[in-house]
Amino acid sequence: MQLQKIKLFMYFPPEKTDKPITYRLVKDYDLMFNILQAQIQPNKKGRLMAELEGTAENIEKGLQYLKEQGVQYRIFNKNIIWHEEKCVHCGACTAVCPSRALSMDRNEWKLTFDHSKCLICELCVKTCPLNAMDVNIFL
Ligand code: SF4
Ligand code: SF4
Repeated sequence: MQLQKIKLFMYFPPEKTDKPITYRLVKDYDLMFNILQAQIQPNKKGRLMAELEGTAENIEKGLQYLKEQGVQYRIFNKNIIWHEEKCVHCGACTAVCPSRALSMDRNEWKLTFDHSKCLICELCVKTCPLNAMDVNIFL
């Protein structure tokens, strides 16, 4: 069975921030849920950036469930690509990366890129002097 992965921003209305909505996504729709960034406080609007992984059918059903719960969402239609062949491992991008998706291996002085932590903020793209970081937009 082929699994798909999407990244999305979810916007929770104040009355929904204390409901077990993400738990239901995992339990009822068999989705893997990886929180990348969260701003949630009781009785205030909440915002969550997360990665969902599951079958296309379960992702579809999970998104439908979010809609029914009044949770708005925006799916990312882009990701970040590291052109390793252009990289000189200067480390400049690691200084601006807010999620530590980019880090230096201090033993070998080499850049490593953990896609799963990337927030797609594009700061590394603007910072790299050699255009080794790039944005890929899906249609
Ligand atoms: S700023 Fe560019 S060249 Fe320097 S480590 Fe990052 S990706 Fe590589
Ligand atoms: S897009 Fe942002 S979070 Fe992702 S690797 Fe670049 S600086 Fe880090």
